[in-house]
Amino acid sequence: MSIIDLTSMAEPEGEQQDKINEILKTLKEDIPNDCYQCGKCTSGCEAFILLELEPHKVMALSKSGFIDELLNSDVIWTCVTCLKCKERCPQDLAPVDVIFALKNIAVASGKQIDTGISNMLQSVLGSGYIQQPKEVVDKDNKAVTRDSLGLPSLPAPKEIQKLQQVLMKAATETLG
Ligand code: SF4
Ligand code: SF4
Repeated sequence: MSIIDLTSMAEPEGEQQDKINEILKTLKEDIPNDCYQCGKCTSGCEAFILLELEPHKVMALSKSGFIDELLNSDVIWTCVTCLKCKERCPQDLAPVDVIFALKNIAVASGKQIDTGISNMLQSVLGSGYIQQPKEVVDKDNKAVTRDSLGLPSLPAPKEIQKLQQVLMKAATETLG
């Protein structure tokens, strides 16, 4: 089974469904309970300006039970894990943890994951890099590549097999 298979699994069952239920219970009952919607998390969120991620809304929606809506939304995939929401929260809450839990449920439930993330995973597994070298445009508006600049091909990262094993292990580990 590849990591891509793991991100597109069919309906969860048995033990996996129990884990999802456990996370859902935590999401609904525990994590967002002390959030008083001050918005400090969102005002410092690195993904807010460009990607419209509003962690305080994620907290409110989780608490109100709109889990499916969040799981089907692109918004949970825009978090860049900067952890600022966790640092800034006066209530010692961590919207980032809620978002991680939602992402875990989305993957375990076989929901469509963000294309950019699945492309990145495929690239890391295939070559060890998060993306392949790209053609860019220089100051004269001319397209250049590593080849055209006379640069050598990128060497494969050291210990790529170890990296792949770690990724697979992380993907198959227990949720939460
Ligand atoms: S900073 Fe904390 S209390 Fe304020 S909205 Fe965000 S999660 Fe809620
Ligand atoms: S960890 Fe995610 S949700 Fe929290 S501030 Fe950073 S980008 Fe925003």
